[in-house]
Amino acid sequence: MIKGALGRFRAGLRKTREGVVGGLRSMFGRRIKLDSDTLDQIEELLISADMGVKSAVSITRNIENRLKEEGGEATLESVLEVIRRDVKHILVTAKPRIKPLSWDGEVGKKKKKKKGGNTEPVQPAVDESAGDYPRVIFVVGVNGSGKTTSIAKLAHLLKGEGQTVLLAAADTFRAAAVEQLEIWAERVGVDCIRQGSGADPAAVVFDALNAAKARGVDTVIVDTAGRLHTKTNLMDELGKVARVIRKKTGKDPETLLVVDGNTGQNGLAQARIFAETIPVEGLILTKLDGTSKGGIVVAIAETLGLSVKYVGMGETVEDLAVFDADLFVDALFADWSEGGDTDEEAESTGSD
Ligand code: GDP
Ligand code: GDP
Ligand code: MG
Repeated sequence: MIKGALGRFRAGLRKTREGVVGGLRSMFGRRIKLDSDTLDQIEELLISADMGVKSAVSITRNIENRLKEEGGEATLESVLEVIRRDVKHILVTAKPRIKPLSWDGEVGKKKKKKKGGNTEPVQPAVDESAGDYPRVIFVVGVNGSGKTTSIAKLAHLLKGEGQTVLLAAADTFRAAAVEQLEIWAERVGVDCIRQGSGADPAAVVFDALNAAKARGVDTVIVDTAGRLHTKTNLMDELGKVARVIRKKTGKDPETLLVVDGNTGQNGLAQARIFAETIPVEGLILTKLDGTSKGGIVVAIAETLGLSVKYVGMGETVEDLAVFDADLFVDALFADWSEGGDTDEEAESTGSD
């Protein structure tokens, strides 16, 4: 099973790996002379994979420091070993760098802090039978980032774990969006609650939660209209939906922000602004199969400390994986040329 998962990451991250590992291999062969020109080139490769300048600089410095004793020369494998270790360290030690928010009050609007007194946020009255409601996953992000596709994949993944899943078509902005979600729901074999296009997203979610409760569903996944993080009224609309969820279920939804892995530093900026505006629990990073800039995962961990929960690596329902730092790093920064980059059954890495 681990082998299968590693194979998936390897296939999904091929473009980025070819950029970094392939780049190192073709520049230096299997022995790398660690002079300052070479180190600059390595740093450049890491930056071109969108790992962020800070990470790239510190990793390159570690390559220099740790491999000095090899007499200014190193093997491709020893360089990759340092990269793997450092990247893993960045991913597993990332701490949130954005102040965590909650869905209380008016999202998108500056809240006035009361001086002294009770600063407890005002909780909306909670439905008495809140405990009967399912887990709610609230999926947000800009247009075209892959929200709807990721929801289908996530539904498929959860269904595979034996959960019952219900989708809520709360992207009511474009008529086609509701239909797109319905088509996916049918393909995956889960139910979908909808209203007409132009309906109030909060009303759709209200219906979906009632249906989920009546049907004893485990998880509701809410699709939302793509929105730019800069539009306050649309962020407020998310707040309204979230408050409906909170009122009915007694809990905040788990908000997952979908970021297109192809958008590089722009995606990073989007993630920052979303997370500064609404509570974001984690990311779904999509389209890693199509990009040589999969190192954005590292930049996100390093500069925002947001955790990547899932990664999308293709267009079918199978192509979503729970993010795993070990698999990610092994898939991305290993020289698979021996085992054959195309061979899914190549021997597994001896990762620690
Ligand atoms: P939304 O507007 O955020 O709901 O985005 P959609 O889910 O409609 O996806 C927009 C496009 O991105 C579609 O053509 C999807 O097939 C494509 N897409 C989404 N996720 C992935 C992925 O992981 N890999 C690839 N290659 N394409 C993806
Ligand atoms: P403008 O260029 O600032 O006028 O904004 P747009 O052209 O993006 O949108 C026009 C109107 O559609 C505005 O009143 C927005 O509030 C609304 N709108 C845009 N995107 C969305 C969305 O995703 N959901 C909803 N409900 N309304 C939207
Ligand atoms: Mg969509």
